Amino acid sequence: MIQAIGYAAKHSYSRLKSLRFEREEAGPHDIEIDVMFCGVCHSDIHQVKNEWSNTVYPCMPGHEVVGRVARTGAHVTRHAVGDIVGVGCMIDSCRRCDPCEAGEQNYCEGPNSWLATYNGPMVPAKLAADGGNMYGRDNTFGGYSNVLVVNEDFALKIPAGLRPEVAAPILCAGVTTYSPMKHWGVKAGDKVGVIGFGGLGDMAAKIARAMGAEVTVFTTSQDKLDEAARLGVRGVLESDKDALKKLKLSFDFIISTIPEKHDINPYIQLLKRDRTLVIVGALEPMAGVNNQETAFHRKAVAGSLIGSLVDTQEVLDFCAQHEIGPDIQMIPIQEINEAYSHVEHGDVRFRYVIDMASLKHEMEA
Ligand SMILES: [Zn+2]
Ligand SMILES: [Zn+2]
Repeated sequence: MIQAIGYAAKHSYSRLKSLRFEREEAGPHDIEIDVMFCGVCHSDIHQVKNEWSNTVYPCMPGHEVVGRVARTGAHVTRHAVGDIVGVGCMIDSCRRCDPCEAGEQNYCEGPNSWLATYNGPMVPAKLAADGGNMYGRDNTFGGYSNVLVVNEDFALKIPAGLRPEVAAPILCAGVTTYSPMKHWGVKAGDKVGVIGFGGLGDMAAKIARAMGAEVTVFTTSQDKLDEAARLGVRGVLESDKDALKKLKLSFDFIISTIPEKHDINPYIQLLKRDRTLVIVGALEPMAGVNNQETAFHRKAVAGSLIGSLVDTQEVLDFCAQHEIGPDIQMIPIQEINEAYSHVEHGDVRFRYVIDMASLKHEMEA
């Protein structure tokens, strides 16, 4: 076993604290990664606080992981020692179901669905149709740690043009916004609306703009209108009814990135006929959709969850090619609890990224 260290919460009420634990050594198809950076995703906070009622404790989050390959199993062919690699939300899937065969592991229909980088399989044994656990693990520990061991297929290549710390948030925030834009065919000249201008909204706006779309972000604060202008996209206040009225039937695609329940009906009005509004930020029951809004111009409201391995590699390469990435703020892991409160209350647009070098002295202590 590998002696490891990370930050975890032992209960929904408790803060994250240093935790020593053991990881399995790399098997023949696995790689061992020395974690360099890990992004802080809003999901980490939901999970730590058991806001989806499925948290297994201790909970060690982190699914925007970038590091250097330290060891490779005997049969590994995709990665070599010294490579800079990334690990997103998944570390395995059933590999046999229709979505897996189609390369859409993030929609795995296997008995336990995909194996999340932290908090174990998406469908735990208790909820699985066969009552089993094909992964043999009911809790996984994520990237808020010094070392990670994953199957080589679930590690992505970080392109040379992308700084590793900037690449980290692309592994979740980037692909979560890129994947639906690809699926619904966003293209140059399209009008794209982005609801919410936090970490996900920032990535959505940058990616859509790099695709050649004309981007409008909808936000609640004047400050963020200025930030939108700096990014070269249009900003509209959600409370500006006149502005919204003028935008009726004008968007080709709208993506909602707000991480909790909100009313999307005012935005459905803004879609053109036959177009789609996709919700990626909130994973909970939403306020009702007024079918008058969808029926009249045959519009759709959809959801989308993270992205496949192929989409994740694509968005990393896309960001490197277009020289875009999230705005980040680096923190030592010892400041993680303060960072969480800022994300929860401050609605920060940049992404916190943990510099895992800050764990070193705790390892040696
Ligand atoms: Zn995430
Ligand atoms: Zn599957």
